[in-house]
Amino acid sequence: PSLLPSTPQSPNQYKQQQSNSFSNTFHSFSTIRPYILSQHKPILLGWFSSLVSVISLSQLVPRIGQFSATIGKIDAVRLRNEGLVLGAVFLAKLIATYWQQALLWEAAVSAGYEIRVHVFERVLQRELDFYEGGNGVSSGDIAYRITAEAADLTDTLYALLNTIVPSALQLSVMASQMLAISPVLSLISAMVIPCIALVIAYLGEMLRKISKNANLSTATLSAYLNEVLPAILFVKANNAELCESARFQRLAYADLSEHLKKKKMKALIPQIIQIIYFGALFTLCCGSLVISCGCFDGCSMVSFVTSLIFLVEPIQDVGKAYNEWKQGEPAIERLFDLTSLKSKVIEKPNAVDLDHVRGDVKFCDISFKYGDNRPLVLNELNLHIKAGETVALVGPSGGGKTTLVKLLLRLYNPSSGCVLIDNQNIQDIRLESLRRHVGLVSQDITLFSGTVAENIGYRDLMTEIDMEKVEMAARTANADEFIRKLPKGYKTNIGPRGSSLSGGQRQRLAIARALYQDSSILILDEATSALDSRSELLVRQAVQRLMENHTVLVIAHRLETVMMAKRIFILNDGKLEELTSLNLLGGHNNSPLLTGLVI
Ligand code: ADP
Ligand code: MG
Repeated sequence: PSLLPSTPQSPNQYKQQQSNSFSNTFHSFSTIRPYILSQHKPILLGWFSSLVSVISLSQLVPRIGQFSATIGKIDAVRLRNEGLVLGAVFLAKLIATYWQQALLWEAAVSAGYEIRVHVFERVLQRELDFYEGGNGVSSGDIAYRITAEAADLTDTLYALLNTIVPSALQLSVMASQMLAISPVLSLISAMVIPCIALVIAYLGEMLRKISKNANLSTATLSAYLNEVLPAILFVKANNAELCESARFQRLAYADLSEHLKKKKMKALIPQIIQIIYFGALFTLCCGSLVISCGCFDGCSMVSFVTSLIFLVEPIQDVGKAYNEWKQGEPAIERLFDLTSLKSKVIEKPNAVDLDHVRGDVKFCDISFKYGDNRPLVLNELNLHIKAGETVALVGPSGGGKTTLVKLLLRLYNPSSGCVLIDNQNIQDIRLESLRRHVGLVSQDITLFSGTVAENIGYRDLMTEIDMEKVEMAARTANADEFIRKLPKGYKTNIGPRGSSLSGGQRQRLAIARALYQDSSILILDEATSALDSRSELLVRQAVQRLMENHTVLVIAHRLETVMMAKRIFILNDGKLEELTSLNLLGGHNNSPLLTGLVI
């Protein structure tokens, strides 16, 4: 259970949704309606093809009756002609049915694509708390929803589109033909339909719940794999292969039982639908009685039964589509759950762009906690970094240094107080503009699979990467030398998360990336912790060069790193204290404030 990724949905909400299945279906449908409507062209063409297909079928039915009548009379020419016409009509039906299905698949797959893109855009826009917070959805779960569940949803959409109009058409044409032949027999055969519909509605609701659990269990499995595979080095170093294999087995078994339930239910529902054939059988018996009375001929009987058989097909389709829909509903819920909650970090409509940033940063009376029931991380903190100044921040781990950086980047809003850049509240600045002017080398280095140049020039990935700037940044960050030794230099692919590089190399690439961005404010959050003393010295020199025209905030543990700053602050208990040469040299080494400094 400790591995279960929490979903943003509270159990109460879930119960509510379970209890009101109709409004649930309505809600799910209205959620995806705009995506369906955007595909109106292939849908209308597909439905037109289905009309052609049904018309061909309606021609087929009486002809089969006539054809059977010709067989008895052994008229070779008529037999051949009827056979040819029958074949042509049948061929028309095949072609029309193909186009119906191909076009409707096109609509369903395109709508699925648009849903995916929309959901992913919204996921990217969500505030950091969505990923980091205690209720956060794991990345594995999100990945599963956007890949597998969205693919299932495409099947659902197809089933829906392929059913609404085509099945209704076929149903009405066949029913009217049957009614024309024999209203009494038609009514007899229609009797079983309401009973079956009730049973199927009930089973469909059960299928929805089972499907939701099955999706959840697979998402859990996916989240687990997403966590354990990147940590494979740690697993092996701890001899934990057996333990992890057992954990996997437990989760995979839970997944198996949920899916087994779903598959069994899916096997049951079509069989229930087939009960309708009993209706056909019963009709046949009644029919033979009617024939023996002489008020109904064999030819009409054949036409009637053929209509009945073709009537069962769309009814089965409706049942199948309902089945699919109930299976797809949880996917819709879970996908759009990712987009539903509103972010607290909202850009004001009249937010402005920052031009010519001098780099004056002011934290005014900042208090912050991660949640209502969480402790205060920052407590009425004040800090003024003047434009072009380099300030160092030290303090015990967990003291809130990174949190301060997150507030400057407006990844979170402060609980109270404000952050100003060039005397402008960052709440009034466009997020894109703010983050463009603040370069960050974070504690957790993030590199993507791709070439060295793509990683350094990440900011220009969508446009054109300036190779000269890339090399310049790499030289400044002291990364150029090792990059040139890589098999393809700047064009070397560094593997997923930069796994083919050492910790120090990854850190230097991250520094080069921040330098490439050329922002006026640069933050190095323990950016040099994985460098050896020689590389660190070189990076320090690079930072010293940058200090001339940048505002730099250095967060570090090592004293050498912070000594180059003009002012050093210690962050402890949510408050800042400036470290003067007096209290540094005055024998305060045992002071708890200095425990963060590892020399
Ligand atoms: P530092 O960078 O100084 O080591 P952080 O700013 O990362 O410290 O963390 C400060 C405190 O906030 C820690 O106690 C940490 O547990 C807590 N914290 C950090 N991130 C989150 C989060 N996303 N949700 C809840 N608490 C958090
Ligand atoms: Mg930190």
